[in-house]
Amino acid sequence: MTPQDKEKVIPFEFIPDKASETTNIDGKDYLLMNDAFYTFYQRSLGELSPFFLAMRDEKRILGCRCTRCGLVRVPPFVTHCPFCDFAPTELVEVGQEGNMISTPPITYFANSLFAARAPFGRGRVILEGADTALSTMLYTTTGILVPGIIKRGTEVKVIFRDERIGEITDIFCVPTAELTPQQIAEKGLQESELSWIAPAEPEFPEASAEDIAIYQRSLKEMQSLASEMSKSKRARKAIEGWKRDIAVKTRGGEFAMYIDDGDFRIEERKLESPDFVMACADPRTLLDGLSYKGAITDAVIMKRLWISKNMEFNTIFKLDRLARFLAREKKERAAG
Ligand SMILES: [Zn+2]
Repeated sequence: MTPQDKEKVIPFEFIPDKASETTNIDGKDYLLMNDAFYTFYQRSLGELSPFFLAMRDEKRILGCRCTRCGLVRVPPFVTHCPFCDFAPTELVEVGQEGNMISTPPITYFANSLFAARAPFGRGRVILEGADTALSTMLYTTTGILVPGIIKRGTEVKVIFRDERIGEITDIFCVPTAELTPQQIAEKGLQESELSWIAPAEPEFPEASAEDIAIYQRSLKEMQSLASEMSKSKRARKAIEGWKRDIAVKTRGGEFAMYIDDGDFRIEERKLESPDFVMACADPRTLLDGLSYKGAITDAVIMKRLWISKNMEFNTIFKLDRLARFLAREKKERAAG
């Protein structure tokens, strides 16, 4: 683990290089230096501390109950009930299962803060014993979260991340339908206790002569696109700092994709230990994506392209950008 691997308050990629540039004002050159002016601070979570401490240290979810009307709010964001002339509230523990009060929208393309966590659902759940809804992130253990898995009314359970620092993303929810009765009964269930079933790798029927011909033709086209991408300054930006060895399986044959800090290569070989596997019956699905004729992310969401690791959706997103950046550069060049 390098120091860069540990999450920082300021993401590493936001930190400018030590460098300089020249600017010209009224015919005179001036030197501009990259420099820093910064300050860090610690923020108290104040009256919400018990909620986050219970979540971090005891894997419990707390709410507050009004001593007069009995309303239980989760999270416990008031110490006095505004409905009851500010009668005091008391902290109570609530259950870790509940029902969605609305169908969660799914975020596939997150901003840089949440990119590593996408795709995820964002929804509100009323936990057992609570009267108000808790906002939470939602996942499925069965692969990419697609519409229809979690809807209004779906029963979900709170799952605690293995590493918790006391922020709301320390927890998320999954449908209880994906859990065993023991897991449902367990309080403080952690993410590492779930079986994150990578959906079974699709099996393709034996390739016909036509499948093989399509594969070979598509492979050649993808290889030539890859070499254009590696030469394009603009396209290289899309995969800057990213490194992945990907095994790609299609009906007509198997090949390897290498993303290596701006370089993009495709070779006809089987990878022993790829970072992840992509499988699509027809290699033209990928070819179209790389040619900027259809998004590869859409192919994943529509289940025409299978990936072995949910979190690699991020890499798929980068491949789409790679295609888009090359297309844009070509268009600009054509416009002269
Ligand atoms: Zn009250």
